[in-house]
Amino acid sequence: MPIQQQQRCLLVTPVKRLVANVTLALFIVTTAAASLAPAGLARADGLPDLGDASDAVVTEPQERAIGKRIMLDVRGDRAFVDDPEIVEYISYLGNRLVAASRGATNDNRREFEFFVLNDDTINAFALLGGFVGFHSGLILASRTESELAGVMGHEISHVLQRHSARGAMGQRGGGLMQLAALAAAILAARSGSSSAGQATEAAILGGQALAIQNQLDYSRDFEREADRIGIQVMMRAGFDPQGMVGFFDRLLKANRHNEGKAPGYLRTHPLTTERIADMQNRVDQLLNESDKRLRAIAESAEYKLAQARLRVMSMSATDAISFFRGAIDEKTVLRNRADVYGLSMAMAKGRDFAGAERELNKIRLSPAAHPWIERQLAEIQLGQGKTEAAIRTYQEGVRRFPDSRALALGLLEAHFLAGQTDTALQLANERLKSIQDDAKLYEIVGKCYERLGKKLAQHRAIAESYYRRGNLVGAIEQLEIALKAKDGDFYESSSTESRLRELKTEFKNRPLMPGEKRDRPEREERGFSPTLNIRAISSAHLN
Ligand SMILES: [Zn+2]
Repeated sequence: MPIQQQQRCLLVTPVKRLVANVTLALFIVTTAAASLAPAGLARADGLPDLGDASDAVVTEPQERAIGKRIMLDVRGDRAFVDDPEIVEYISYLGNRLVAASRGATNDNRREFEFFVLNDDTINAFALLGGFVGFHSGLILASRTESELAGVMGHEISHVLQRHSARGAMGQRGGGLMQLAALAAAILAARSGSSSAGQATEAAILGGQALAIQNQLDYSRDFEREADRIGIQVMMRAGFDPQGMVGFFDRLLKANRHNEGKAPGYLRTHPLTTERIADMQNRVDQLLNESDKRLRAIAESAEYKLAQARLRVMSMSATDAISFFRGAIDEKTVLRNRADVYGLSMAMAKGRDFAGAERELNKIRLSPAAHPWIERQLAEIQLGQGKTEAAIRTYQEGVRRFPDSRALALGLLEAHFLAGQTDTALQLANERLKSIQDDAKLYEIVGKCYERLGKKLAQHRAIAESYYRRGNLVGAIEQLEIALKAKDGDFYESSSTESRLRELKTEFKNRPLMPGEKRDRPEREERGFSPTLNIRAISSAHLN
């Protein structure tokens, strides 16, 4: 039974990571938070007093600023999934839960951004500033959307409850030591020296051991609180809270077989039988028996499709084809749409475009039933070199699903591929009138201007794309390059100049990093390249 084997693999081997992630999340959040505490003041007093109000320790803009810097590196990582469908799905799920959190907590005025890393270990984490990441391995290991929503609800609750600031308060002296470690690390990373990357990693790893030691007591409480609020949030969002219990219970059982090999802190880590029992009690209180029976949860159509997509991304074409063939063969009555979709994607990955199209046609309906399936057809047509056919598929898709970003961007790119640069640009500019926060859209605009030889416009578009990815320094640099090109008319030049002034002002007023000076010459910032290694961060605690 290939499917069962697959699932067992996913659960047993990488389970340590998920268990560890809880500590990891707290570590990143807490260490960075602590690092923003007024260390000088604390030292002057002798006894650090971080106070009661968490906002006094670290402000929300500071949290966000640190998170953004870490995200710059995360976005540059090979594992970062920029796929429009996956981005759309994880954002949908996260935002559905965030919307439902109103009322479940006192304060949910947090900004969130959800992302996926292509990594087959089971992990999910909340970075400082509301950036919530999921490994594809976790999404694939979930059996229902409610299970996935359970982990999502838990991570969102860590952010909503500001466990970061509360963790820093609880740590006292230890928190201040980590504070120094992280401050040094981030500033070292900015110096641009070749050893900066190693320094950053070393400091983070060094601080991490301490963090784990110091946080166990607090993290148990935080875990319970995140479970409790997570359950409420997922119920409000219309998911089955039993999904959270089920998923964590499965992880706990899977981990038990590995206990001998588990690192020391895992044995005392808060994913315990008691915690699962607490969750179950809470769910039982919230749901009476009839509720449990009646609770038929409608999964989004995208959940299974997203799993199929991620599975193809994480496997070789051959393995993915045999996986989905096996899955389809097992179902004697009804073939699962997501399995056929996955098989078609896998065949296209193996460059068997005719086979991919044949499979996809089995689930295509008229009128088109799902935007992802339409885009898959267009991708197959592009693979076959049928660019005009792909453009037509995209055009029909956009007409039928005007809200689909994946189809809209796909159409632009198909026009670009066909050499229809002016059309692509015209459509992109049309879209920019209503959508201003899409980095990828600006990236396509930049490519179009590059091909047209318009340097000012090209770098201006790249600047806007960088800016939307949180790279303010890179954006300023691109605007300067744009102005040097001197190939714009008066209006273009002066609007670029004023945009440059705007971003420089924003740079001057940015929340400061610990140890950073407000009057630091801007030139020095150019060397800043964040070098936090997320692979190192997410695996280090297993050592
Ligand atoms: Zn947690």
